[in-house]
Order: sequence, then C-alpha cells, then structure tokens
Amino acid sequence: MALANCKRCGKLFNRMHLEICAECNKEDDEKFFLIRDYLKDNRRATIYEVSDGTGVEVSMIIRFIREGRITPIDNPNLAYPCDNCGTAIQHDRYCKPCKDKLQKGLSSTREELRQSGDKSARTDYFHKRER
Ligand SMILES: [Zn+2]
Ligand SMILES: [Zn+2]
Repeated sequence: MALANCKRCGKLFNRMHLEICAECNKEDDEKFFLIRDYLKDNRRATIYEVSDGTGVEVSMIIRFIREGRITPIDNPNLAYPCDNCGTAIQHDRYCKPCKDKLQKGLSSTREELRQSGDKSARTDYFHKRER
C-alpha cells in the first residue's frame, strides 16, 4: 500500500502506478472515450469544436494530445497553440521555429557571455599595458 494524494482532486488514494485516483482516472477515461468517439465522426474538428461537442475542457483535450492518448494523425485540424508564439501545433510544447529559436537563444546567450568575458579580459590587458 502506497498512499498518495491524487494530483487532480487531492484525495488520499492507494497509489499503484497512476498520479490520480481511480475516480479521477475513470473520469479521464470517460472523457477520453467521448473525445475519441466525437473525432471518429468529426475528423476535421478543432479542439474547440471537440470541447463544444463533448463538454470536455480544451486544456484536457490538449493534455490528451500531449500525452499521446489522442493522436491527431487522422484529425488535421486538431491542433493547439505553441506555448511560445501561439502557432497551431500537434505535438510537443513548442512549434519547430520556436524550438529552434529557444535552442539558439540558449547557446547565443552562452556565446555572448563568453565573448563579453573575453572582451573585458582584453581591455584589462590593454589598460595594464597603457599604464
Ligand atoms: Zn482524484
Ligand atoms: Zn511557436
């Protein structure tokens, strides 16, 4: 027995391998089946249409897609906004350009730091020489 608080409702439950209790998990499953059935009939639906059609919150639909429970392969319009710029994406947190930018951003910051470090060292050197 490993007791834990449900990540969703906060209730104490016997944690087996899930982060949420059986009740929340059942609720998740029911919502998941609702969405899946809706998507079968509405292949071109957007997450907002799915939300309207099933009553499931948009955030939960996005979570299902991110978790890979819903694969948008057959549903070309099933996309959600990139966390950074809002472009429609179908997997991960960021769109491709943002991912590239973020990666480059990280390395260019490092590069700038390294260069400014070099420069100050160099000025220091020249100051000493002038004196
Ligand atoms: Zn729960
Ligand atoms: Zn983006």
